[in-house]
Amino acid sequence: MPSLRQLEFAFQTVAASLWHAPRFAQQSAYKASVLEAKARQLLHSLGAKRIATELRVEWNSRLKTAAGRADYRQKLISLNPKLVEHPAEIDRTLRHELAHILAQFRQKSRRQIAPHGPEWQQACRDLGIADEKRCHTLPFPPKRYAPRFIYRCPNCRRDFPRVRKVRRTVACLACCRAHNCGEFDIRFRLKLLTV
Ligand SMILES: [Zn+2]
Ligand SMILES: [Zn+2]
Repeated sequence: MPSLRQLEFAFQTVAASLWHAPRFAQQSAYKASVLEAKARQLLHSLGAKRIATELRVEWNSRLKTAAGRADYRQKLISLNPKLVEHPAEIDRTLRHELAHILAQFRQKSRRQIAPHGPEWQQACRDLGIADEKRCHTLPFPPKRYAPRFIYRCPNCRRDFPRVRKVRRTVACLACCRAHNCGEFDIRFRLKLLTV
């Protein structure tokens, strides 16, 4: 069964310059240091003081399709600079990743918890994103290559150009959100138009 992370967002293409990670990271509201301060404050307010001071937030242009990544051992949250296309997603992604850190912190034992299990969901509620879905994979189209494969949502008819063939089963997130509470729905599976 396809997992939720295989859902895809429908994105507009933006000017290549916006994808420039360093420039993006300099924008004051999105500075890593600003986001880091916010994340630390959130951890602090939720009683995770011990790791609040250790936590770091970085923009990492090596992230490919993931919007963000949380590394508990390093106490590091990495965000994909291409989130500039979706400023509203920045805060949510930060909290999503922070929930991974918080959930693991709350484990008194060293037991590894399920990435998006009940502990993570509770942390999401505490971080104000109770409705957060597990999918946080944002497909950012590569900038240097022209897309050769066009996928289309059978419902909203939106096109999803891709450079490479998509091997996974992917569905249109907009339609899954609109008609199936954001859960994967095979009815909205993207169909390949061109080869
Ligand atoms: Zn996650
Ligand atoms: Zn659709």
